[in-house]
Amino acid sequence: MFIDTHCHLTDRYTDDVDEIIQRAHNAGVGAIICATAEPGDIIPALKIANANKNIFCTTGLHPDCADTATAANVLTADVLHDTHVIGIGEIGLDFHERNDNKENQIKLFSDQLEIAQEFDLPVAIHTRDAENDTIDILTNKNHGVLHCFTGTWDLARVMLDRGFYFSASGILTFKNAADIRDTFAKIPNDRIVIETDSPFCAPVPHRGKMCEPAFVIETARVLAEIKHLQIDELESILMENTMRLYPKIKIIK
Ligand SMILES: [Zn+2]
Repeated sequence: MFIDTHCHLTDRYTDDVDEIIQRAHNAGVGAIICATAEPGDIIPALKIANANKNIFCTTGLHPDCADTATAANVLTADVLHDTHVIGIGEIGLDFHERNDNKENQIKLFSDQLEIAQEFDLPVAIHTRDAENDTIDILTNKNHGVLHCFTGTWDLARVMLDRGFYFSASGILTFKNAADIRDTFAKIPNDRIVIETDSPFCAPVPHRGKMCEPAFVIETARVLAEIKHLQIDELESILMENTMRLYPKIKIIK
């Protein structure tokens, strides 16, 4: 079984979510981790997780919400103690989208990292054009994953030392992503997970379509090539890694 470790099932889908989940199962993607980005995502995401087998959530506030949301109001004990909530994410910094509200982004990020420590939950980090600040703010008091990792080897090295995982998305399959493939070739096999980040970033050969969890198989294929592994060897490595990264996951066979 493959696991799509990061997607947004509450975001932009016009198709029935049940059909999207069914297509994932048909493709061998037996579990899905649904990330939230804004306060309004959490209840719909938990509803999907409650209604379906092997759907889990990471709940968090994306840097897009930095001017409007307060972590403590959204990431309550009730939400974080839910058995389906296995981590906090996606959270982080995005100075590519906006760099006029850095202070607010840093505050929202730091507040959520503190909550993650308090509840001993792994974090799923979004970082874009903010590598140095990400390194400064994240200490080794937190553990987790750099989601949709497209960062430099310098960032990878620091975060490897801190015990973090790295998630490969559909970007790994893009023709112009040779440097990202090189970075993943160097990251140890026991620190990698895969994701779609759907509905964004559809992999080759689905580019231009709305991405969905079934497509994570394409990222797995490319990763297997990079790592010189058979696809089923990679499948079990990724499964073990995901369970180690997210100890609250309980897969139903
Ligand atoms: Zn995402």
